[in-house]
Amino acid sequence: MELDHYFAVSDDMRKRLEVTRELAATFAGRAKHYDETNQFPHENIEDLKRSGYVSWTVPRQFGGLEISLREMLMHQEQLARGDGSTALAIGWHVGMILNLRSTGAFPDPLFQTICESVVRDGALINSCASEPATGSPSRGGRPETTAVRVAGGYRITGRKTFSTLSPALTWIMVTAGIDGDERVGQFVVRGEDVEIVETWNVLGMRATGSHDIVLKDVFVPEDRIVAIAKPGEKTERNNDGGGWMLHIPACYLGVSLAARDFAMQYAATYQPNSLPHPIADVPHVEQKLGEMELKLLAARTLMYDLATRWDEASLADRASLRPKFGAAKTLATNAANEVVDLAMRVVGGRSLSKDLPLERYYRDVRAGLHNPPMDDVVYRMLAKEGTAPYRKPRA
Ligand SMILES: Cc1cc2nc3c(=O)[nH]c(=O)nc-3n(C[C@H](O)[C@H](O)[C@H](O)COP(=O)(O)OP(=O)(O)OC[C@H]3O[C@@H](n4cnc5c(N)ncnc54)[C@H](O)[C@@H]3O)c2cc1C
Repeated sequence: MELDHYFAVSDDMRKRLEVTRELAATFAGRAKHYDETNQFPHENIEDLKRSGYVSWTVPRQFGGLEISLREMLMHQEQLARGDGSTALAIGWHVGMILNLRSTGAFPDPLFQTICESVVRDGALINSCASEPATGSPSRGGRPETTAVRVAGGYRITGRKTFSTLSPALTWIMVTAGIDGDERVGQFVVRGEDVEIVETWNVLGMRATGSHDIVLKDVFVPEDRIVAIAKPGEKTERNNDGGGWMLHIPACYLGVSLAARDFAMQYAATYQPNSLPHPIADVPHVEQKLGEMELKLLAARTLMYDLATRWDEASLADRASLRPKFGAAKTLATNAANEVVDLAMRVVGGRSLSKDLPLERYYRDVRAGLHNPPMDDVVYRMLAKEGTAPYRKPRA
């Protein structure tokens, strides 16, 4: 736990960390139930609303605490230590609000309405862009969901997959191809206007409620249109480097920290009768515990360093951090998989037991590999950045 205080750089942060730590302890007690039943943890979401956490990234002018990216990541990590699913689900919400606060990507009156509903009612938002035919939206495929121009706005029809937090969403940002036009739009629809089809039955992160949502001729008025642009064309307002997406590595690091905590305690206290001391003093176990610490320290240090740089940078400088955010995500999610694997090797055969949390952590961290940006995209981005100064201009 001391290491959390090493990463928390102010008293306010440490004080609020006590709140998320307490929530995490409660969620940890419920995690097995929601994982086994594949149900959405509504009671965890209600606890997050009651604690005020859902409004901590909201700007002060709308009644929030306007916490920094660094602080948001600390809380996300902490919540994931209790339950990865709950942390990932709420991470999209608090992260998206932070991103919108930084970029002004939503029209001001719409953002104000959303923020006020968060503070007043605990309203939640997420972006649902994935579709079966496009796969990951980060690869730029055109959505098959279609927006048709009508008087006063658009009517949208389509289906989104992997819609995390869907059972609790008040606001949903969806992407749609504009009918008869090459452009793609981003629109905000209300949760009550979509149908949720409960398709989410997967290996890990089972309690994220990442079901399909179906839109049937959903009317979106002008004031909930976010942007309409040609494929690949970045609207100037939405480019802050995507620092908020670090909530993804924070989540998987949190899950692997829980595995680390378990393995450390187990190794320090388990003494089979073949040994005169606990297994923590067996050289190969010690090596694994040390490797876990190093992997976590490296991945957390990079993530928090980048978050601080983002917090302190201008909007233009924030954009240039994007490849490094990808690097932090790839390092963290792969480290999380390795750390949980090492923790299970330390604990041995008992780690497979459904009565222990390790096998859930093992399944949960696997999902991180399939959140954006994917590893191949990150490595390509880093390679391009590294070779750029040496490339000859194309004729
Ligand atoms: C737990 C969890 C929560 C999620 N929550 C959300 C959410 O809230 N909102 C949301 O919109 N999405 C969400 N997603 C979806 C996520 O962003 C991806 O869309 C989804 O995981 C599918 O990505 P993919 O790379 O596996 O799929 P695909 O893009 O179909 O890729 C499948 C395979 O083909 C390869 N491939 C496909 N296209 C290309 C290409 N153009 N170039 C090179 N290789 C290619 C990939 O590398 C991969 O090996 C979530 C996913 C998970 C696992």
